[in-house]
Amino acid sequence: MSRVYNFSAGPSMLPLEVLETAQKEMLDYHGSGQSVMEMSHRSKVYDEIIKTAEADFRELAGVPDDYKVLFLQGGASTQFAMIPMNLMKNKVADYIVTGQWAKKAWQEAQKFGTANKIASSEDKTFTYIPDVSDLPISENADYVYICQNNTIYGTRYKELPDTKGKILVSDVSSMFLSEPMDVSRYGIVYGGVQKNVGPAGVTIVVIREDLISDEVLPGTPTMLRYKTHADSDSLYNTPPAYNIYVCGLVFKWLKKMGGLTEMKKINEEKAKILYDFLDASSMFKGTVVPEYRSLMNVPFVTDSDELNKKFIDEASKAGFVNLKGHRTVGGMRASIYNAMPAEGVKKLVEFMDKFEKENA
Ligand SMILES: *Cc1c(COP(=O)(O)O)cnc(C)c1O
Repeated sequence: MSRVYNFSAGPSMLPLEVLETAQKEMLDYHGSGQSVMEMSHRSKVYDEIIKTAEADFRELAGVPDDYKVLFLQGGASTQFAMIPMNLMKNKVADYIVTGQWAKKAWQEAQKFGTANKIASSEDKTFTYIPDVSDLPISENADYVYICQNNTIYGTRYKELPDTKGKILVSDVSSMFLSEPMDVSRYGIVYGGVQKNVGPAGVTIVVIREDLISDEVLPGTPTMLRYKTHADSDSLYNTPPAYNIYVCGLVFKWLKKMGGLTEMKKINEEKAKILYDFLDASSMFKGTVVPEYRSLMNVPFVTDSDELNKKFIDEASKAGFVNLKGHRTVGGMRASIYNAMPAEGVKKLVEFMDKFEKENA
């Protein structure tokens, strides 16, 4: 068996230990004589799996008792519609547009009401986070929306915005469980799991209970109401059962690693290795204003497309895969989520250093 260092933005690496456990339990989960893939989602054995996954997630993320944790489908992108459909009572919401995902969410919300773009960093190709300390929050805004870590551009919020009392909704897809979070600051905090938490197919939504109600926009389908899923503990219909199980294994792994405080330390150390190299290199350059650098997604460039391409090809041959930047921005991007070991980043930096010397 030979495994590569996978720098994909998502789906991305999972901890080897988790894959090995899943492999061991593939044919006969804990003496049940079945794979988790084959189980009824209404069975006792599966109920234990989903309940344990939720309990472990709550413990890791420090989810207060008055919040529900929902395991949903449709990817983070479905939330772009589900959020306004469920929260836009006044049909007004404020969006901070810091990248493609925030922009897509803002555009989707326009289908349901007035979605105001109250700040943006598009003027400089999303290479920074705008000042969010004193924003023109709309008086009747139902919520303020952010994307907290911008996967494509490699920026992240240093501070959460001052929403002036309005509900904060945050997409944390590409930083989920990479560091401690204060759930009580959000009305909804959510993410697709395929970046940092598990296999594609699950979206975890953490929502304050008072935001779950039958008062949704007219025509909101049953499946797109938070209440539907909250009332039945994410088992209204068949959930992505196997994927939730793997997420549960990742939660166990995170707990074993020491929880999110420890993960933050590890992630900071890992990111520093790469950023320090970029800052010292005369060939490779980071593309983001340093104070807003993401710990998870690190975009960088050389000064020629040809050299970028050569680097990506040679890196891939050497076992460092998926370093190509997003198709809308080009260059390179190394996504270094929880499951990427420090060793992978160190080896990548050694490879970059060698490439720089050979191509100087
Ligand atoms: C990947 C990503 C999405 C889209 O996720 P899907 O699950 O593919 O819909 C949304 N937001 C952020 C921040 C992402 O990184």
